[in-house]
Formats: sequence, C-alpha cells, structure tokens
Amino acid sequence: MSIKENVKRLLFNNPGLISNNIVKALILAYYKRLWSERSGNVVLTDIAVENTNVCNARCEMCAYKDMKRNKKIMPLQDYARIIDIAAAENIKRLYLGQLGEPFTDKGIFDKMDYAIAKGMELVSITTNASLLDEAASRRLLGYPWKAISFSVDGATRGTYEEIRKGLEFETVENNIVSFLKVRKELGRTDLRVRMQMAVYGKNKHEVDEYRVKWKERLVSGLDEIALLYATNYAGLTGIEYSGDSAGRQVKVPCGRLWNHMITVAVNGDIPICCWDYDVDNNVGNVFREGSLKGLWNGQRMREVRKIHVDGGYGMIPLCANCNDNFFVKPHFVIEKT
Ligand code: SF4
Repeated sequence: MSIKENVKRLLFNNPGLISNNIVKALILAYYKRLWSERSGNVVLTDIAVENTNVCNARCEMCAYKDMKRNKKIMPLQDYARIIDIAAAENIKRLYLGQLGEPFTDKGIFDKMDYAIAKGMELVSITTNASLLDEAASRRLLGYPWKAISFSVDGATRGTYEEIRKGLEFETVENNIVSFLKVRKELGRTDLRVRMQMAVYGKNKHEVDEYRVKWKERLVSGLDEIALLYATNYAGLTGIEYSGDSAGRQVKVPCGRLWNHMITVAVNGDIPICCWDYDVDNNVGNVFREGSLKGLWNGQRMREVRKIHVDGGYGMIPLCANCNDNFFVKPHFVIEKT
C-alpha cells in the first residue's frame, strides 16, 4: 500500500486527525511537491466513459434526478472517436459508466467489442444489476473485464426499494446470484465482484446484515464488499450525509485533481471531477479538442490544481462547498471477503 493510501486509511479510521495542523501541513507539502515535480501535470493512464447518462432508477441519494443535462445514449461513432483518441495517446485502461446505468445502452456490447479491437484493457464496470438477466450476464462474462461492481444499497426489500426507487429488490438480487453462478460455471476466477453500498441515514442499520448476506455468496479471497459514504455530490444535493462530520469543513488540496483517470461525459465534455453531475465545471470537450491528455494537463486543469495547491478552493464553484475532498473524506471502506 502506498504512503498516500496509508494516510487515507489512517484518516478514515481517525477522521478528527484532518483538523490537526501537522496533518494538514503534511498534505499541503505533499501536493506542493507534486506540483513542483510534475509542473502541475498528471500521467494519464485510465479513462472512464459515460456510455449513457440514462438511468432506469430514481435513487434517493443520487444526483440523477437533479441533473439538467440532456439524457442520451452515446452514439457508437462518438464512443469510437473517444477510444481512438485514448488509444493514440496510450491511455489503455477503460472503465464504463458515470452517472447513468450502463446497461440501458443497448449497444454496450458493441462498445466493449470496439474497445477490445483497439487494445484497451477492460478494468471495471458499475451497474445496478437490474437489467443483467442471465443472458446478459453470460454475454458480459465473455469479455475480459477485471472487475464488476454491483450497487445495492440495502439488505432488505423495504429499505432497498425506498432508496432505489423504480427497481425491484428481488430482481436485482436474483440477477447478481445468477451472475455469480454463471461466473463459477465459466471458471472466471480472474473477475472480481464488488458489492457496494452507499451508506447513509436510511440504510446504515443494515450494514451488518448486508455483510453477512453477501459474504456467504461471494468468493472468499477474490471478491469485495465496499461500504461507501453516500456522497452529497460536492454539496449540490441535499442528501443526508452518512460520514462522520469531523473535519468536513477542513480544506486541503484535493487528490481527485491528480487522478490518473479522466472522465468523459456522454457529450464529450471533461469534468474536473466526477461529482460534477451537470458537468458545469469542465475543462473542455474531447471532440473539439481532439485530445484527452491535452485537456487533462491543459491550461484550465493546471490552473485548478494550482488553485488547490495555493489554498484557494473557494474560487472553484464545485470545490467551494464540497465535503468529498479525497483526503477529508476517504471514500471507501473495502472489505475482502
Ligand atoms: S474538492 Fe470535491 S469537487 Fe473539488 S475536485 Fe475534490 S472531490 Fe471534486
């Protein structure tokens, strides 16, 4: 585990530490050094493509219902252009999905085929599993994805359906159980399943039941259970925040700006951060620019990084009210099964 990961874990377990002046100074020093060593640039290796921003659910804690962007499926030719640019710039690791449900896109398997043809490494895909019947699971398991994350935010039907409005608990659970069965049948011991739960006031009493239920079904030593603090999308939604509040107002430079992964929205816009669900804070559009690296290390993105390193978070509307800063709120607790 890297020093950064160790610090994040330490802060996760001891959230009050973020208010400590020595800890803040160490984080600031880390990013100032990063800035000077790399002149504000980031090595870009991964890409997350929002193949669709259409969702079949209206989850209580999700920004989807607040999103004003046009809802659409990314046309295959647009997607192909993005993959071509990524491949040409040696960005080879692909994630599918951002705000929508990836499997509302009927052309999703054509998009996987195209990525493979271009030599992309299929890293991970996140889904609510509601559309993943056995036939779709069999098809998906024919692709060399390294991981699949199933977002299920409750251990009981009542809680789940109150949160994930529009989805059926039994269908989702049956689809995941069927996926696990087919994975076993096909011997895909290289594909990790992550069960993830966005935890907040409405479901936090079910965390233990969730752990027990899914540990029984998952493969020990391979799969994971991830407990996420439900985000409030950089302060843009009013969801009750599940994480403890210690240090939430403490500002330190945000690690997300130094991600090795770039996110491409369904229309080609590049947000500075994936929490910007309406992509109001973007650094440009990949179709206009014709480059991903050019945008991720372009003038605007470097300005944003510098503002953070210099402590001027309030100058960036998205970051001004954010309590999801990468260090202030480490995002996951991941438990091995
Ligand atoms: S401070 Fe918040 S909105 Fe800004 S980059 Fe970090 S996580 Fe994203």
